[in-house]
Amino acid sequence: MNIEANELSKVYGEGENRVVALDQASLTIAPGDFLSIMGPSGSGKSTLLHLLSGLDRPTSGRLTYDGRDIYDLSDKALSAFRRRRIGFIFQQFHLLPVLTARENILMPLLLDKKQPDEDYLQELVQLLGIGDRLHHLPHELSGGQQQRVAIARALIAKPDVIFADEPTGNLDSRSGGEVMDLLRAVQEKLGTALVVITHDSRVAAMAQRRLTIVDGVLSEVAAG
Ligand code: ADP
Ligand code: MG
Repeated sequence: MNIEANELSKVYGEGENRVVALDQASLTIAPGDFLSIMGPSGSGKSTLLHLLSGLDRPTSGRLTYDGRDIYDLSDKALSAFRRRRIGFIFQQFHLLPVLTARENILMPLLLDKKQPDEDYLQELVQLLGIGDRLHHLPHELSGGQQQRVAIARALIAKPDVIFADEPTGNLDSRSGGEVMDLLRAVQEKLGTALVVITHDSRVAAMAQRRLTIVDGVLSEVAAG
C-alpha cells in the first residue's frame, strides 16, 4: 500500500482563536516503511497522525491510499477501510475495560463480522508475550502488558500500516523500551509499515526515516 499525503492542513477555530495545527504537510509512505516523527508538545503531531489514518479530515489537502482518495469515502466506508487496512496505537491504550484482553484484541474483527484466525492470533500473542494474559481484564494487566494487547488489536486485521501516537509515553522507560522493541520486531516480521510519534530520541533513531514537526510544519531529516 502506497500512502500519499498532499499538502494536508488543519485549521481550528476562527479569528483570534484561529490555530493552524498542521500547515501543508506532504509525505509518502511506502510498504514496510518505518518512520518516526518528533516535535514539541502542541506542534501538530497528533493532528497529523489523525489525518493520515483517516480518524479526522483535513481543512484542505488530499490523502490517497494506492491512488484512492480516502476522504472521498463516507464516514461509514472510511470506518470500515480503517478497520481493515489501518492499525492505530494510542498513548493511553484505549482498551475497553469490561472486555478481556482476547476480546479487546478481536474487537476490530467482530465489528466486521469476521471470524478470527486462531493461528495468527496465537502467533501475535506469542510474539508479544501475552499468551497467558488473554483472559484477564485490562485493569489486571500492567501498563506494558496493556499496550502489548493494544498492539495485538492494531495488528489483528493484518493492516498495511500502523500509526502509533507516543505509544511509550505512559510507560516507565524499561517497559517502554520493551514495547518499542516488540513493536519493531512485529513490524519487521509482518512487513507492516509503521509510523511512530515519540518524544524519545532513542525510539526515533530506530526508524529508517525520521521526521520532525515544528509549529505544524513537517520536514524530513536527511538520512546519513
Ligand atoms: P501534539 O500532538 O504535537 O502535541 P496536537 O496535534 O494535539 O499537537 O495539537 C496541535 C495544535 O492544535 C495545538 O495548538 C492544539 O492546541 C491545537 N488543537 C488540537 N486539537 C484541537 C481541537 N480539537 N480544537 C482546537 N484546537 C486544537
Ligand atoms: Mg499529541
